[in-house]
Amino acid sequence: MKHLYLVAPILAILAIFAVYFLIQTNKRPVPHYEPKHEEVIFDAEEYLRQLKKDHRPFGKSGVHRLLLKRTRQKAGVYLESLEPALDTIGLEIVNVYHSVMGFEYVPVITSGNDWPYHAKKSKHYENKALDFRIKFLLPEEKKSIVDLATKKLEGRARVIWEKGEAEHLHVELFE
Ligand SMILES: [Zn+2]
Repeated sequence: MKHLYLVAPILAILAIFAVYFLIQTNKRPVPHYEPKHEEVIFDAEEYLRQLKKDHRPFGKSGVHRLLLKRTRQKAGVYLESLEPALDTIGLEIVNVYHSVMGFEYVPVITSGNDWPYHAKKSKHYENKALDFRIKFLLPEEKKSIVDLATKKLEGRARVIWEKGEAEHLHVELFE
């Protein structure tokens, strides 16, 4: 026990180190998160050109992902089992919105196979129908979108302009 007098200075030195360590830890720069900047502007016309040229530039899951990326989806919308043909048609609708509203416009899908209040035999429950928001557009914009979509999808999908309280653009496969 003759070295007992060393305990106090050692503890003091340890305390100084501890404080120093804490100060250093606090000084460490906070990791800075910088989101990657994506400057990709989707050119729907170019996409469709590719689609026609290559028949399919990527698999159906790729087309599905692209549809999700090029649209916003209302909360609760279920699109995971969507018929692949409808993914392509959905992108063509995006293209229609772009031609009327400009490339910056992001259409909103308001329903897939989700809402419990569609008609009993609705194509929505077979993953063969999509609803797009149209409600807040100007009357002439709505008309242009509906006309253009109808013309574009003629023979491939039915386009219905649902009016009234829950106004939207309904698109469904024939079969
Ligand atoms: Zn619908």
